[in-house]
Amino acid sequence: FNKEKERLFEPTEVLNLKVNDYKGHPIVVQKSSSVYDAIVQMFLEDVGTLYAVDSEGCLAGVISRKDLLRAAIGNKNLEDLPVSVIMTRMPNIITVKPEETLVQAAKKLVTNRIDSLPVVRELSNKSDSYEVIGRITKTTITKVYLEIAEQKSV
Ligand code: ADP
Repeated sequence: FNKEKERLFEPTEVLNLKVNDYKGHPIVVQKSSSVYDAIVQMFLEDVGTLYAVDSEGCLAGVISRKDLLRAAIGNKNLEDLPVSVIMTRMPNIITVKPEETLVQAAKKLVTNRIDSLPVVRELSNKSDSYEVIGRITKTTITKVYLEIAEQKSV
């Protein structure tokens, strides 16, 4: 009876969880990489989305499973096809900042019907240029939801 009660999440606390504390490791490829190598990388890293960067390391594109499937259907030589041709490009990429909340990230995932968001930091020397520092996926949000439901601290 005297056992200390497990810590419960307060609603305001749940709403304030920050992207920075839950972001995962981003898997990044050069935008000059071939579609073939991107497919191999996706399997090796066991992720559903790759982020493409330019030679300066700035976020240039997003490559999803279906982007790669579509490219594989329509093209014969996947080793000669760069991912820059098939990726979703800047400025059409939906990103999230580390200081935003998981609720804001979840809203972007749902309203844009996408599986993942690159977590980015704006590069001060160039406007509209971002460095990829993490990723938030639907799995990230689902895991946090479950841990809150099970009342464990995460
Ligand atoms: P899949 O295509 O495998 O179902 P998604 O639903 O995540 O995976 O992607 C759907 C489309 O949206 C793809 O063409 C992909 O390039 C694009 N996409 C994925 N994530 C983003 C993002 N963060 N911003 C903009 N476009 C994205």
